[in-house]
Amino acid sequence: MASATRVHVGVGSNLGDRVAHVDAAWLAMAALSSDGVVGRSALYESEPMGPADQPDYVNAACRFSTTLSPHALLAALQAIERREGRVRPALRWTARTLDLDVLLYGDRVIKTPDLVVPHPGIAERAFVLQPLVDLDPSLVVPGRGPVSELLDALGTHSLRPLARRSPT
Ligand code: ATP
Ligand code: CA
Ligand code: CA
Repeated sequence: MASATRVHVGVGSNLGDRVAHVDAAWLAMAALSSDGVVGRSALYESEPMGPADQPDYVNAACRFSTTLSPHALLAALQAIERREGRVRPALRWTARTLDLDVLLYGDRVIKTPDLVVPHPGIAERAFVLQPLVDLDPSLVVPGRGPVSELLDALGTHSLRPLARRSPT
């Protein structure tokens, strides 16, 4: 049996029922996890990158172990995005129901045309680093350093913890 690698996935949504899309992604990733377990961070709200006339994002990060190769993982995550109704317009960083990014794949460094790991934006994005710190403060981004230090280096930022709706 192929050995499993621990991966971290960034989750974002700024269209429709954002929390429902994030929850659906978390559930769907259990099928990609070698033991069915998926750890997840708290939820945060952040202002969108790119075009400003779009809703704020809900962001989180997930962690699990998988026997999928890096490219198979990317394909599986894109399938989950499609299932949640994501459409891909030509313009970058437009509003979407669900965005799943491969943040880390173990300690691998991957540079291919369709997959770059660690994710290129990781060290500049508080909405990525804070959820990673939640999951594992001692986590190290290969070539960049510990997530906690990278977050400190960003200084102040406008990330807001999101209170979950209480069950009705
Ligand atoms: P950003 O990557 O800056 O967060 P984005 O998430 O809005 O922007 P997308 O439109 O979702 O970008 O994806 C564009 C392409 O990025 C995908 O088709 C995919 O092939 C490529 N890509 C490269 N590296 C990664 C990665 N680590 N995780 C997910 N997609 C990646
Ligand atoms: Ca992204
Ligand atoms: Ca993406």
